[in-house]
Amino acid sequence: MVAAINKPVTAPACGVADNAAVAKSDKSTNELAAATGTVAEGVAASLTPLLADIDTDSAAGRDRYFMRLAQAAAEEARAAGEVPVGAVLVRGGEVIATGFNHPIGGHDPSAHAEMAALRAAADKLQNYRLPGCELFVTLEPCLMCAGAIMHARIARVVFGARDPKTGACGSVVDAFANTQLNHHTIVLGGVLEEECGAALKSFFADRRRAAREARAGLAEPGAAERMVDGRDDPGTRWPL
Ligand SMILES: [Zn+2]
Repeated sequence: MVAAINKPVTAPACGVADNAAVAKSDKSTNELAAATGTVAEGVAASLTPLLADIDTDSAAGRDRYFMRLAQAAAEEARAAGEVPVGAVLVRGGEVIATGFNHPIGGHDPSAHAEMAALRAAADKLQNYRLPGCELFVTLEPCLMCAGAIMHARIARVVFGARDPKTGACGSVVDAFANTQLNHHTIVLGGVLEEECGAALKSFFADRRRAAREARAGLAEPGAAERMVDGRDDPGTRWPL
């Protein structure tokens, strides 16, 4: 049975942003006005002016609108000390779920933002298939996530920054170009690419600075121990 989703989603579980009101589009005739919910409190306020600037009447504006929400979810990951990648799962004009990257804190190599959003949406809709849904994610999906996207029958994927190390939408491999694998998912990359990439670069710049300070003995006690070890080196997720 498919759950009713004509209202904001209460997001459950680790790696999924807390439910909070997000600024609605000013355009009362726009269906995006229904896309409330699922971006964490505190991020929503800073998001308001960014969303207000977007012309959601155009297809490109609509993509940017939802990418902004994914960016907000990415900031949830950053706040948790994880590589800042965020994802939003949309059906029609409605946000079904959001997710953020949290493999380190979750002790879960599969806990990428896309996986968190897919799991939350599938749970919400009580269906392991998510036909007609779109996934917006700030970083090009990896092979694992591309596989999950195909299994879920996602109709369309929109990503921000390209990932030259693990990107599976054309940067390293193109899983969606393989017609034997793909169930006709439409893929669009490069939406708010510069901003999405900047969020990652700033994260790793902070990490490198913290590492330098730790080596120089400038950091507070315990800082070095809290740093990510080699197994989860963020450099494997994004070029340094
Ligand atoms: Zn992934």
